[in-house]
Amino acid sequence: MRLRKIIHIDMDAFYASVEQRDFPEFRGKPVVVGGDPDSRSVVCTASYEARKYGIHSAMPTSKAKRLCPHAIFVFPRFSAYKEVSRQVNEVFHEFTDLVEPLSLDEAYLDVTENKKGITSATHIAREIKQRILEVTKLTSSAGVAAIKFIAKIASGMNKPNGLTVITPEEAEKFLEELAIGKFYGIGEVTEKKMISLGIKTGKDLKHFTQSELIRHFGKSGSFYYNIVRGHDFREVEPYRTRKSIGAENTFAVDILDKPSVFAELDDIADVLWDRVERSDAKGKTLTLKVKYDDFESITRSISFKNFIDSKETILKFGHKLLTGTEAGKRKIRLIGLSISNLQSGEEEESAQLRFAFGD
Ligand SMILES: [Mg+2]
Repeated sequence: MRLRKIIHIDMDAFYASVEQRDFPEFRGKPVVVGGDPDSRSVVCTASYEARKYGIHSAMPTSKAKRLCPHAIFVFPRFSAYKEVSRQVNEVFHEFTDLVEPLSLDEAYLDVTENKKGITSATHIAREIKQRILEVTKLTSSAGVAAIKFIAKIASGMNKPNGLTVITPEEAEKFLEELAIGKFYGIGEVTEKKMISLGIKTGKDLKHFTQSELIRHFGKSGSFYYNIVRGHDFREVEPYRTRKSIGAENTFAVDILDKPSVFAELDDIADVLWDRVERSDAKGKTLTLKVKYDDFESITRSISFKNFIDSKETILKFGHKLLTGTEAGKRKIRLIGLSISNLQSGEEEESAQLRFAFGD
């Protein structure tokens, strides 16, 4: 196998850092980007000063306010973040066109061959960070490795303004010593399950055969089996287009009460809309998934001529779709909303250009 040189770049506390850059009075202070703290919204990003109070993303803003009442709460300004994201992307392309954005503030780069003819990926990572700082006045963190999985973990290891290199020689030991919760793709629930099986580190994970892991974790089992051995053959895919973007929730207790189901749907719409904005993707089809308490699962969809461009649309038609189910008559175990038929912002832009010239 040909050894690749992969860099994962992640902007530091991105939304909050942009706010502190644009509003000097916020600098050095706890800043929380998210919804209204008096509503049931969640934190998008907290500045490092706010993190000292235990505030982190995805936490309810009301809780963030309790933890730090004097924090500055601001609404996200996605247009500003998208502009920075575009600038950062331009910097990436000074070095390579093999750029795979994961969201507005992070991307994988394959710099095995690069436009500057630099052989050291570490050197390139340092230059990219420097260029990002020059152009945007913002810091970023980089992880350098031969595979995506390790590069992604590495970028998070010395934040902010970090640069972490895991050489191919170090990879095996690195993965063996890694706490299981630090594995990318292992969330809190899986982490608990792993620990209950005696898996605390990568080394512990290696003691399980592939079929044992599949038995415990379904098809993710093979992913874990391979990843802990450094078998990550995913290439950096510059034109990867996601087929859908969604959010769902399995309830702790099955819900029969109709207003409660609708309230849950509203929460999911919030999360979904946040993800849509972060991903810079737009879609034309809205799908509702409902799983009843007997595990029967149904989906209902509606497609639009134009992109779904507001949370209000998701809420309005989400309700409409839910009305067409047996909500209120049968107990519901899970509901989810997703948007598909996606097109990235860039494709849309070029489509608009074609339209403008063709007309
Ligand atoms: Mg980030």
